[in-house]
Amino acid sequence: QRPVPSDVTISRSCVPIPIECLAEEIGLFSDEVELYGRTKAKVQLKTIDRLQAQPDGKYVVVTGITPTPLGEGKSTTTIGLVQALGAHLKLNAFACVRQPSQGPTFGIKGGAAGGGYSQVIPMEEFNLHLTGDIHAITAANNLVAAAIDARMFHEATQVEFLFRLSKLGIKKTDPSTLTEEEITHFVRLDIDPESITWQRVLDTNDRFLRKITIGQSPTEKGFTRTAQFDITVASEIMAVLALTTSLADMKEKLAKMVVATSRSGQPVTTEDLGVCGALTVLMRDAIKPNLMQTLEVRGVVLGCVFTNYYANHLDRSPLKINYTLFMVYCCFLPVTEAGFGADIGMEKFFNIKCRYSGLKPHVVVLVATVRALKMHGGGPTVSLRITLLYCINLALLEAGCSNMRKQVENAQLFGVPVVVAVNAFKTDTKAELDLICKLAKAAGAFDAVHCSHWADGGTGAVDLARAVQKAADLPSSFKFLYGIELPIVDKIRIIAQKIYGADDIELLPEAQHKVDLYSKQGFACLPICMAKTHLSLSHDAEKKGVPTGFVLPIRDIRASVGAGFLYPLVGTMPTIPGLPTRPCFYDIDLDTESGEVLGLF
Ligand code: ADP
Repeated sequence: QRPVPSDVTISRSCVPIPIECLAEEIGLFSDEVELYGRTKAKVQLKTIDRLQAQPDGKYVVVTGITPTPLGEGKSTTTIGLVQALGAHLKLNAFACVRQPSQGPTFGIKGGAAGGGYSQVIPMEEFNLHLTGDIHAITAANNLVAAAIDARMFHEATQVEFLFRLSKLGIKKTDPSTLTEEEITHFVRLDIDPESITWQRVLDTNDRFLRKITIGQSPTEKGFTRTAQFDITVASEIMAVLALTTSLADMKEKLAKMVVATSRSGQPVTTEDLGVCGALTVLMRDAIKPNLMQTLEVRGVVLGCVFTNYYANHLDRSPLKINYTLFMVYCCFLPVTEAGFGADIGMEKFFNIKCRYSGLKPHVVVLVATVRALKMHGGGPTVSLRITLLYCINLALLEAGCSNMRKQVENAQLFGVPVVVAVNAFKTDTKAELDLICKLAKAAGAFDAVHCSHWADGGTGAVDLARAVQKAADLPSSFKFLYGIELPIVDKIRIIAQKIYGADDIELLPEAQHKVDLYSKQGFACLPICMAKTHLSLSHDAEKKGVPTGFVLPIRDIRASVGAGFLYPLVGTMPTIPGLPTRPCFYDIDLDTESGEVLGLF
């Protein structure tokens, strides 16, 4: 086997075609495309109106078995599949992938442009900044955070009352002359500081911001409180972007976001803070799909923003507009990716994203690797020892295939056919790859193939592409797992029992309090977005395979009312990752002579 160069070397060895030529090739008019340099563009939203009458394509979602922390190749498979469909089977196919967060890029995992000979190019453009969408989210999110604390400060010091009244021509200089009505109904939000759910965000894995104290300057007159930073891609604004269907819809969602509760128990929204117009302005470009290319130009990528953590599983540009856009172009196969394992990404993708977009998925591609299945069979889980997973051991592998079987069953609960894609690593043997395919078919997969797109590009995924094409021809019998009208607790229990295999759920006191609060506030009818570790089907990341006999603890429940879901917190989940002892940024540098970025993968 020839050695495969590094991702950045491969990416750089391929000269991308000018993005305006690509846009023209796929049928976009020049006034529908906004260029961001030579290799990136945004597509104007008005394009959708022109394409409204086109029929939808077949909708393919790439997900995976429960992964190792290193990732099992979903992004790589998404790009490889699209290269195979486009460049080799000559079908119109688009990939709709996430925009990487800088957290993993500089942290442990590296970028998310795919890998080997299945990549979005130029990978450094894709992995760093892209067109600034994540920065826009950070700015918008932190404007809300600033507005909350400033509002509480001004309300307490009453300056805000007087300013607002003076704007209405009511001149008062002494706060003590305000009437009760002016205070209660007009100005005062009376936010309960203990109830604030809105946090500041940053697109950096900075663990020391997990808990902070704000307002320590004497100018804040003692208005200190503890708060935290989350990673940007875990923010509600990210989720809004991921679930919105139009500019008007985004504005509405941005206005509905609940940030806290007033002392009288009323939800306080971004609209109450008067900030939603400004948010929409900050987000007006981020909503537009981004256009880039793959190594094999025919497969085109609409790289959109990635959401991580709880909402992350809605990730990869679930904007209906994006889908509509590329579905009408490709008329056949838009391929998108649902993050993490199928229990996390796919479940939310179906129950939340498809519910809001109204689009029916046709095929699930479930990515599996020999190394992760061996880990599920009882092999080592620590990444330093992961090389041990590369030794042939069919018994371990067969035992670990139980995880794949469960994830196949999970997809089938939604009535969607599954094609298992075994992403081959150079250390895998044919016997191992064949065993997985055999067991996948026995578990009820429509088909199972092994593929070598990482090493061979689109050629290595032609069998997968053919299997997907066949599966897409089956009539769609897609169904949701639960009705949103069910009580909150019932919806959580259905996901826990049917998807994770839990015996039952246990609501801890804070979660029970939120069930009561959200039911009273009228938010019970929202779908559920579980915040659970992706490293196990259970809440315990150490439990591999198919854990049984456990009760899922629900620690708390939060509401993303603007985006449109409730998210139960299962066990403890950090909302901003930390950096490992050897972060990726050690290797990243700029060659100041050539201007080339070094060390990205
Ligand atoms: P996921 O989307 O599942 O998190 P990625 O597609 O981002 O995973 O892949 C994770 C990393 O593994 C990337 O650096 C990628 O280049 C690498 N990778 C993926 N498939 C293979 C393979 N078959 N052989 C070697 N490395 C691979």
